[in-house]
Amino acid sequence: ELLINQIAAGEVVERPASVLKEVLENSLDAGSRAIEVQLQQGGVKQIRIADDGCGIDKDELGIALERHATSKIASLDDLECVATMGFRGEALASIASVARVTLTSRAQGSPHAWRIHAGETSPSPAALNSGTVVEVSDLYWNVPARRKFLKSEGTEFGHCDDAFRRIALARPEVAFQLQHNGRVSLRLATGDMRRRCGDILGEEFLEHARVIDVEAAGLRLSGFAALPAYARASRDAQYFFVNGRFVRDKLIQHALREAYADILHGSKHPAFTLFLELDPSGVDVNVHPAKTEVRFREARAIHQFVYHAVSRGLAATIG
Ligand code: ADP
Ligand code: MG
Repeated sequence: ELLINQIAAGEVVERPASVLKEVLENSLDAGSRAIEVQLQQGGVKQIRIADDGCGIDKDELGIALERHATSKIASLDDLECVATMGFRGEALASIASVARVTLTSRAQGSPHAWRIHAGETSPSPAALNSGTVVEVSDLYWNVPARRKFLKSEGTEFGHCDDAFRRIALARPEVAFQLQHNGRVSLRLATGDMRRRCGDILGEEFLEHARVIDVEAAGLRLSGFAALPAYARASRDAQYFFVNGRFVRDKLIQHALREAYADILHGSKHPAFTLFLELDPSGVDVNVHPAKTEVRFREARAIHQFVYHAVSRGLAATIG
């Protein structure tokens, strides 16, 4: 069982940033409105995430750490609607097989909190006002072969920071905080999408960006696309989301590159934060659980739609 989990972990848990992504998604699934992340040593030493979500019942605490334990698929009918987030019920079990994991949680209505360390059979009483605290320490302490592939503290922190921004960008209604080695590195108050984009990419990005908001045939593309004048435009400022989920997709990248090339005659590193929404049945997001690619059913139509929406938005600035 431990070995199976460790093999699964190889798929899901590549580095601290992949742990952070999974635990952040769990906090969002739990309906949290405020989420605090504390990293030590690039997340290798510890990732601690505290949320104010629905919490986990005492009886569910141990189960949450077991493989295929998910509270998110109640029936086969649900499979279709949870397809967007790819619930698999193995993230915590995988993480717990390659790191030391502690869950502390106070479910709504519970008189106090409970805490369990992965490997223990029953939880003990703990103190916590509400929500859940997940602590993941010493990643790969028991798998030296993988531990040696971890990069420097700065590099691992950079990956965690990327993962954090990708998730926070799509959820402006949730407050986030990120700390590294005891210092606050990013604090995000709740607000609208414009404010969140400004907080994450900088006011300068917004000043040089055009608003995109186009809807047609069940598709909607909204967000911001920066003009070449945006000086710090780089690969790092390319955020594209499909139904709230960050993706890096060849088809989408191609459509965007074409739009920038045709309208602005090239801009080596376009900067954008764009949100595509479509019926979940039109896109398969489970090509790989830990990766960012997707597969569209109507690839050609999506390409055209994105190309035209962005072209029109960019062209509006010249005319
Ligand atoms: P999945 O998210 O695919 O269901 P996970 O292994 O990530 O599987 O989590 C297992 C279960 O633990 C979840 O289904 C959920 O019930 C519970 N859980 C994990 N983190 C939280 C959290 N922050 N708040 C509430 N419940 C949580
Ligand atoms: Mg999960």
